[in-house]
Amino acid sequence: MQTIGVLTSGGDAPGMNAAIRAVVRAGIYNNLKVMGIERGYAGLINGEIKEMDLSSVGDIIHKGGTILKTARCEEFKTDTGRNKALNVLNVFGIDGLVVIGGDGSFNGAQKLSHLGIKTIGIPGTIDNDLAYTDYTIGFDTAVNTVLDAIGKIRDTSTSHERISIIEVMGRHCGDIALYAGLAGGAESVLLPEEAFEIDDICKKLIQGKARGKLHHIIMLAEGTGNAFELQKEILEKTGIDARVTVLGYIQRGGTPTAFDRILASKMGAKAVELLLKGKSSRVVGIKNNQLMDMDIYEALSQNREFDKEMYTLTKILSI
Ligand code: ADP
Repeated sequence: MQTIGVLTSGGDAPGMNAAIRAVVRAGIYNNLKVMGIERGYAGLINGEIKEMDLSSVGDIIHKGGTILKTARCEEFKTDTGRNKALNVLNVFGIDGLVVIGGDGSFNGAQKLSHLGIKTIGIPGTIDNDLAYTDYTIGFDTAVNTVLDAIGKIRDTSTSHERISIIEVMGRHCGDIALYAGLAGGAESVLLPEEAFEIDDICKKLIQGKARGKLHHIIMLAEGTGNAFELQKEILEKTGIDARVTVLGYIQRGGTPTAFDRILASKMGAKAVELLLKGKSSRVVGIKNNQLMDMDIYEALSQNREFDKEMYTLTKILSI
């Protein structure tokens, strides 16, 4: 292996830059030529590729987003699109590719590996929705961003003695709501993984008010339902007018936490190590605090285990 490529694909996540930096620097350290591919698979098909050197990844470890930019690309889902990509990779002499993204991007990487390109995936998504790894790059930063927002919303909620509904991202995965909910001392945490009764929440709100609680924070994971619908239901059932904050894209930005930078640095270097060993169609992850790698197909077929114990704890601590 002489030349490798790196791209970011799907939704961006804080820490992607730290991962790019690690791939480039570990590659150059091992005498590889490293090519940066812009705009994910779309840029690959269009040949938007440039050689990376040590300084091209200088001063980026602390930056959110991705210097390589990211995109979604329907064409890459077709055989024709992937063959175009293969052609481009051959023209640039790239025989190994590191793909930083989520499950969709990994599917693409796996299919590319069938065409003879060695591919390694690094999990970059704030959602933490990949079953094979305990953490994805960007998740910890997103949780801390939500935590910061909870603190600020709590101040104003307390002053006005209000109920707050905070809707957070995560698609079908409730981890951002769960982790930020526990760390932020939310009174109710509503997740797609656990059914809940609206009447129970209303009861808790009324009991809280009766014992003089000044605020009540309801964390709502986006995959659970709509915050404004919930607000309406609460109003109808209790007469209490809750305030809604939908945090949205602020959760995807910002400077990555130390945890995400370290995770990204380790994973980037590991991906290069795997390519040097001739491995392909594998993803890097972290399980029980140990860096690991696994076949992409196997990783994507695993069912996510929801942390029920942690969920129960949020309930116990918010009685
Ligand atoms: P994420 O990687 O964050 O899950 P997407 O699901 O949008 O994001 O996937 C990112 C890109 O990966 C898509 O735009 C497409 O180019 C590629 N991709 C997704 N699914 C497949 C698939 N089944 N086969 C080939 N390429 C795919």
